Amino acid sequence: MPRSLITGGAGFIGSHLAEGLLQRGEEVYIIDDLSTGSIDNVRHLKDRPKFHYQIDTVKNEPVLAELVDACDTVYHLAAAVGVKLIVESPVNTIETNVHGTEVVLKLANKKKKKVLIASTSEVYGKSNDLPFREGSDLVLGPTTKGRWSYACSKAIDEFLAIAYWHEKRLPVVIVRLFNTVGPRQTGRYGMVVPTFVKQALLGHPITVYGDGTQSRSFTYVGDVVNALIELAGHPQAVGQVFNIGNGKEITINQLAQMVKKMTRSESEIVHIPYDEAYEQGFEDTCRRVPDITKLRELIGYQPTLDLPGILQKVIDFYSGGA
Ligand code: UDP
Repeated sequence: MPRSLITGGAGFIGSHLAEGLLQRGEEVYIIDDLSTGSIDNVRHLKDRPKFHYQIDTVKNEPVLAELVDACDTVYHLAAAVGVKLIVESPVNTIETNVHGTEVVLKLANKKKKKVLIASTSEVYGKSNDLPFREGSDLVLGPTTKGRWSYACSKAIDEFLAIAYWHEKRLPVVIVRLFNTVGPRQTGRYGMVVPTFVKQALLGHPITVYGDGTQSRSFTYVGDVVNALIELAGHPQAVGQVFNIGNGKEITINQLAQMVKKMTRSESEIVHIPYDEAYEQGFEDTCRRVPDITKLRELIGYQPTLDLPGILQKVIDFYSGGA
């Protein structure tokens, strides 16, 4: 049976991936420094004989080296994520995202272990060339605006991974994750869906940033996990970049309405200027829609849950029903 290492395995997506791999009978190792992940996310897995966890940072090379050696595939999900966190701690974001990936690729290369690198739809930046295709230009803002450091740090990760493939034949697969949602995601780092659901359930104001006409397309974490596992096992995915997302777009105003209706909440929907929500001069991404043709053609990917279905799972989770 294959053995996999998940960096950031106690995070929201990492913990769902661990579950998915265990379900397939794999041996799963995770490493997580619990900076944004939480032991609560994997508490239900701790007693499984095939589940092993290490609380440490991927920057701890001797520890990571041992784990990489023990596994066949590395899913590198450890990263500083969430726009709010990035705006607040840019140094940590850049260092974690760039140095962490450097270490993972360097160690995996010693024994040519396959590495799947989790990148982000943020790398498309302010591009208006929608839907975003993997080969499109990336349009980033100025270096004086902290928000873009996340996209830039992830773009460097992608360049580095592709360089390892071209120059050293290290098998890598890069995925650009679009807004991924589901149970266990926390709103602590600004993510909109858990934030709105919690606000609605508590009867607090639902805080739409900007005028709410910006849009996103949301994907169920279970669909993302299936795609990650399929791609990691597909020989033709090596050396390639894939969008993982859902083509359906919704504005943040519509999302607020939908959450309010589904929770039967009395909450008021309020609009908060970006400058107040994030930082002076904050630039948001107006629209973000993936083209998922490449993923569909290679692995037959089809999202299984639509937004109301995903929201119901998140609502159940925060109502204590899941
Ligand atoms: N957003 C919002 N209210 C919140 C949190 C986020 O209106 O309480 C907006 C945010 O400005 C962005 C969208 O929701 O336009 C998605 O934000 P999130 O941080 O979830 O992900 P992003 O797509 O920005 O990475």
